[in-house]
Amino acid sequence: MIVPQFACRAIINVHLPVHVRKPWGIQGMARPSSDLAAFREIFSKAKNIAIISGAGVSAESGVPTFRGAGGYWRKWQAQDLATPEAFSRNPSRVWEFYHYRREVMLTKNPNPAHLAISECEERLSKQGREVTVITQNIDELHHRAGSKNILELHGSLFKTRCLTCGHETANYKSPICAALEGKGAPDPDTQDAQIPVQQLPRCERTGCHGLLRPAVVWFGETLDSDILTRSEKVLDSCDLCLVVGTSSVVYPAAMFAPQVAARGVPVAEFNMEDTPATLHFKFHFHGPCGTTLPQALRRHETEP
Ligand SMILES: [Zn+2]
Repeated sequence: MIVPQFACRAIINVHLPVHVRKPWGIQGMARPSSDLAAFREIFSKAKNIAIISGAGVSAESGVPTFRGAGGYWRKWQAQDLATPEAFSRNPSRVWEFYHYRREVMLTKNPNPAHLAISECEERLSKQGREVTVITQNIDELHHRAGSKNILELHGSLFKTRCLTCGHETANYKSPICAALEGKGAPDPDTQDAQIPVQQLPRCERTGCHGLLRPAVVWFGETLDSDILTRSEKVLDSCDLCLVVGTSSVVYPAAMFAPQVAARGVPVAEFNMEDTPATLHFKFHFHGPCGTTLPQALRRHETEP
């Protein structure tokens, strides 16, 4: 039921046009409930919980997004550098940007929202119940918090893909290559390092040595069809859906929760503010996810 083949993040920070809103199913336009006890009652009976997470969860760990007001790396924002065109024009600059983002993550940690999700997954799995995280975040903080069922829609900062042989692999090296050591400073007056392409991260498969790129989904690129198919399956079978820290304007994740709501499944939004989708959901819990989620997902009295 999920519409595939949206060019990932091609449409961003754009309010949804009316013709897109319509098929989301109408649950009435009343304000969603913020009754935690009512949510907890439904939560206690749910067998398959889908949790869609976005940048807001990472922001609570201090992870920069390089989007919106003040979100710059040197003179650029993510949409200027996170494109195939930017990479082919200037792979050194784009690698500096991603090297910086990887190194920043060494100083960041999962927050109480990440931990509440992973604890919930572990606890419920012992009861034969399932929790799956579908995330737009590329920082692996869910993974570091201990979550196991994770679908990374936009890839990972800590994976690379070879442009020659296509091999994709995990990569946690710091720095990722010698030439990037000490590079990537974000200040606007920093000069580009202009690293020769042969000294950028290269494939380590025997005989290949192709140029590596970050295995993240860039603006204008389509999502991995396998991840998308698995996400659809989770969303089609879930009996409770949480939307956590996402502005619900980034495709295709923006379509996920409204479509779950349209088939009558309760959706609970946890966010700092209302989103274009808020009125379609059964619940909305306002505030930092690190405050609201631990209360919402803690052990219910009916759990063994
Ligand atoms: Zn290769």
